[in-house]
Amino acid sequence: MHLPVWRPGRYELGNFAQYLMSVEGVQSDGERITLQKSDLHAWHVPASVQEVSWVFHADILNAGSTCVESDLFYVNPVNCMMFDPLREHLGYSISLSDLMLAPDIPQGWALATALPWTISQGHPVLEARDVQHVMDCPWIASPNLWHDVYREQDIDFHMWIHGTMPKDPHQFVADHVAFTRAQIAAFGSFPTSEYHFLYLFPDREVRHGVEHEDSTVIALGPASRVKSPEGNLEILGIASHELYHAWNVKRIRPSEWLPYDFTGPCPSQLGYIAEGVTTYMGDLFLFEAGIVDLKGWCDLMTGLLERHVNNPGRLNMSVAASSYDTWLDGYKPGVPGRKGSIYVEGAVLAFLCDVRIMSCTDGQHSLSTAMKLLWDRFGKPRHGITADDYWQTLEEVAGESLHDLRASWAEGTEDSWKALVDGMRTQGLALSRARDAQGLFRVVLEPLTSYPA
Ligand SMILES: [Zn+2]
Repeated sequence: MHLPVWRPGRYELGNFAQYLMSVEGVQSDGERITLQKSDLHAWHVPASVQEVSWVFHADILNAGSTCVESDLFYVNPVNCMMFDPLREHLGYSISLSDLMLAPDIPQGWALATALPWTISQGHPVLEARDVQHVMDCPWIASPNLWHDVYREQDIDFHMWIHGTMPKDPHQFVADHVAFTRAQIAAFGSFPTSEYHFLYLFPDREVRHGVEHEDSTVIALGPASRVKSPEGNLEILGIASHELYHAWNVKRIRPSEWLPYDFTGPCPSQLGYIAEGVTTYMGDLFLFEAGIVDLKGWCDLMTGLLERHVNNPGRLNMSVAASSYDTWLDGYKPGVPGRKGSIYVEGAVLAFLCDVRIMSCTDGQHSLSTAMKLLWDRFGKPRHGITADDYWQTLEEVAGESLHDLRASWAEGTEDSWKALVDGMRTQGLALSRARDAQGLFRVVLEPLTSYPA
């Protein structure tokens, strides 16, 4: 039996076995034995063992973790669910009977999850088709779970909140409807028959979102941040990003990650598509949906561009190579000047691709056109994509070679500032930068005083 060593959405080792307190087997004669490891993340199960039990220490609260508190039973199965790599087709039946039966647990717990579930003998039983399915379906159970649902294109979008409520729940739902509608319009269809936003808003510092095929978990805190206008926009930005992932990465997926191999590292150079395009598009859809105005979008882009220009690592290692290396130190600052961020450099590159396609096609097409094609050709039939698939699709839409973009800024380390200034100018925006007293670049992005001819 194996425990996953990583979780999709975080392209580095999670080493979840570090949270296991014990792993025991129950033999046919009832005797309990400690199972021996066959690997850092695997246990040998002797033929005499009929049942295996393990204890997982669950006290981390972020969007990809597992946490049990007095009023919260939050599980990411990919953290704590054992599997057999040779029998990945086997389904899971997960009974929550022990917890829900406990006499000290108040009645009336609600269960939020994209996993199908039924009530059996008074308790929820969750069913997963196979290993890939169970590992991609977190759940939250709590007696304190706010719930609402909206319907778009015959798909039910469930919203669940544990913790602090947004200041204006009605507007919060309305904003979800707006970016959902805009994204579905761009792709032409939604990949699944229902979708769940699982929100954790604790009164402690956290900011995190994780995508799944049929759901997302988003954690933000403390409470004052959730209640503030800036925090509210942060949540909507993360939510728009994660919903875009329902197409891009959960279905339009780098071939290295289809299916996910939970037994070891799975490096890919395509993080600039998975996270970069999603970061750019997630923000763009806030604008398309009317959640932010042009100034609001410029503010979001300014934040990205300041991270871009102030990181010399982008001139040392390409975003494709930085993507491959997320498995080493991609989520830490690491050695100064060594690498770029797949989120930031990927989003900057996505913008450059977007304006190039728009200018090649007189505004008839954009990066969104190419993403819809990738959804139709690769996402729907679940074919993994390669770098060539991606660039050929963009070139088909643009009607010309984009080799310079790929060579300079995906797989190369050229500075892109001039192209960014020119690209913004085609959109009627003036981009400039200047160093502050600390020597860091400050970026200004604003409408041109006179629109280009
Ligand atoms: Zn993401």
